Amino acid sequence: MDDSDAAADRRVAVVGAGAVGLTAACDLADRGVDVTVYERETVAAASTGRAAGICYDAFAEDVDARVAARAAERFRAFSGRGDFAFEETPYVWFVTEPGAKADAIREQVDAMQRHGRDVERVDADDLAAEFPSLRTGDVVEAAVARDAAVVDTSAYAHLLADLAREAGVEIREQTPASVETDPVRVNGEAYDDVVVAAGAHTKQVLAGAGVSVPLKPYRVQALTANAPSEGLPTVYDATAGYYARPHPDGLLAGDGTEPFEADPDGYDRDGDDWFIDATEDRLRDRFPGYEPAVERAWAGLCTATPDRDPLLGELGDGLYVAAGWQGHGFMRAPATAEAIAEQVLGGDGVPAFDPTRFDGSESFEVVEGMAVE
Ligand SMILES: Cc1cc2nc3c(=O)[nH]c(=O)nc-3n(C[C@H](O)[C@H](O)[C@H](O)COP(=O)(O)OP(=O)(O)OC[C@H]3O[C@@H](n4cnc5c(N)ncnc54)[C@H](O)[C@@H]3O)c2cc1C
Repeated sequence: MDDSDAAADRRVAVVGAGAVGLTAACDLADRGVDVTVYERETVAAASTGRAAGICYDAFAEDVDARVAARAAERFRAFSGRGDFAFEETPYVWFVTEPGAKADAIREQVDAMQRHGRDVERVDADDLAAEFPSLRTGDVVEAAVARDAAVVDTSAYAHLLADLAREAGVEIREQTPASVETDPVRVNGEAYDDVVVAAGAHTKQVLAGAGVSVPLKPYRVQALTANAPSEGLPTVYDATAGYYARPHPDGLLAGDGTEPFEADPDGYDRDGDDWFIDATEDRLRDRFPGYEPAVERAWAGLCTATPDRDPLLGELGDGLYVAAGWQGHGFMRAPATAEAIAEQVLGGDGVPAFDPTRFDGSESFEVVEGMAVE
């Protein structure tokens, strides 16, 4: 059966107009499906619009490396359309103490290279030579991923919304979805399939349909400030636990993760003073001579799962989930959304991310996604 047979007369609802839902909607419509997107707020209003927009393919697991490479390939194809640009920017990650995290970087780089990723270990002198504004004297282990970029995540979502509409998708903003099963319905309307890509609200939306998934939203923070210098890479200091990337305002830095479950309807959307103070100190320390002037600080939500892998696939008859990205949901969206769209039409999806590997009753701790261990 090819896609067009599977798509004929099919009506699919997508819950969530973030990067994942919009890409899936667009991919389904491009294959001939009649798609309606339900969005409780507006396009990119939740995590997608709050993300840092760091993209890389530096994943050590083979399935993750494959997914991320496909995502980068699609981002490049979208780049230059609308206001979206995939701005190639090396991604550097390092530790300043010997030990488990340093060992992990070495092992990760070996695995990434085996999967064909353009990643290499570098020493402190190489780093200083390539990125002179960085203080590197304390770096004990570091790596650079070359197939990496920074993007404007809202521009991506708006581009995909435009492409989806051109392909015939109806996007219903300000329309909260309530999902029911047997048969699948949204707000009482019957569909052949429903894809729940509701970000931090996914557990809630599915619970309303009587389906339990192990998913916990957790709060993370970011800020923008003036630039320390030209030609910055994206950096992640895995010892101190923060990242910084070049940004049109100068620099965007983040982390400030709270490792416990947040309420998606009640969390504080502003950056905390402690996060701003700590990030300013870290940036002063990492970029000698730099005095950060913070422009804006905010918080948003990521979603954790028990094994830190996504929940991507069919939960029951016609009911699909796409969530649980552990802070890496944007950079993988073009590939994870494509996989779920293909699965709706009879494809295999990504078997390693099959959500039925859990029954929803699992108890687990939130472990942030960027951790090197
Ligand atoms: C500060 C910060 C920095 C980040 N940095 C990065 C990064 O550099 N790289 C990266 O890859 N990821 C990053 N992330 C994570 C990234 O933002 C998410 O993984 C990604 O945006 C998830 O996209 P999504 O489409 O799954 O979810 P969302 O963008 O959250 O979209 C879900 C949508 O569903 C809607 N919705 C919810 N409930 C309902 C309902 N009942 N009915 C209808 N609509 C509903 C919401 O309003 C929302 O618009 C960051 C996140 C934050 C907060």
